[in-house]
Amino acid sequence: RFPVHVPRAGRSRLLVLAGPTAVGKGTVAAHIRAHHPQIHLSVSATTRSPRPGEVDGVHYFFVDDAEFDRLIAQGELLEHATVHNRYRYGTPRGPVDAALAEGRTVLLEIDLQGARQVRAAEPSATLVFLLPPSWDELVNRLVGRGTEDAEERARRLRTAKAELAAQNEFDYLVVNEDVATAAQEVVDLTAAFARPGS
Ligand code: 5GP
Repeated sequence: RFPVHVPRAGRSRLLVLAGPTAVGKGTVAAHIRAHHPQIHLSVSATTRSPRPGEVDGVHYFFVDDAEFDRLIAQGELLEHATVHNRYRYGTPRGPVDAALAEGRTVLLEIDLQGARQVRAAEPSATLVFLLPPSWDELVNRLVGRGTEDAEERARRLRTAKAELAAQNEFDYLVVNEDVATAAQEVVDLTAAFARPGS
C-alpha cells in the first residue's frame, strides 16, 4: 500500500510534509533537522508562544499578530493558516526561494490547509503525507503526550479524522511507525528530486 518510492514526473524539490494531528510530523522534522542538514527545513512564523526549549529563528519565528498581519500584507508568506482554531502559522517565502535557487531540497512541515495552498501556488510541489500505523496508535499518541485536556483532545481527533481523509490528495504516503525510519523515507524521496536541473 505504501510508501511508493517512485519519483513522479514533474515533481519539484519543494517538499511538503503534512499529516493528521499527533502523527509525529514535528518529531520527524526534528530528526531531519538534526541528521540531514543538507535539507533546508523551513522555519515558520507563528503567533503562539515558545515552548520550553524552543528557540526563536530555529524552531519558529515567534511574532505577534501585528507582525503576522504585516507579513501577509507584504506578500512575504508562501502560505498561512490558523491551526486548531487558535494560532496563526505561515511559511516565509524568501528563505524557501533562496534555498531552492541554491539547488537545495526544501522541506515544509505544515498543516493540511497549508499543504493545499502550496499545491495551488506551486503545482509541482511534492506532497508527502505522514500516516500513523493505525487509528488506535494515533489516539494513544495524542493521549500519551498529555499536553491537551479532554475537550481539546476530542476536538483534535475530529480534525485528525477529516485530515486522514485527505491523504489521496498527496503524492506519497509515509507511515510513521518509527521516527528514524520515517525520516529516512522522506530523505530518500528528497534524494530522488535532488538531481541538478530537476
Ligand atoms: P505546533 O504549535 O505544535 O508546533 O504546530 C501545530 C501545527 O501547526 C502542526 O500541525 C504544524 O504542522 C502546523 N504548522 C507549523 N508551521 C506551519 C506553517 O508555516 N504553516 C501551516 N499551515 N501550518 C504550520
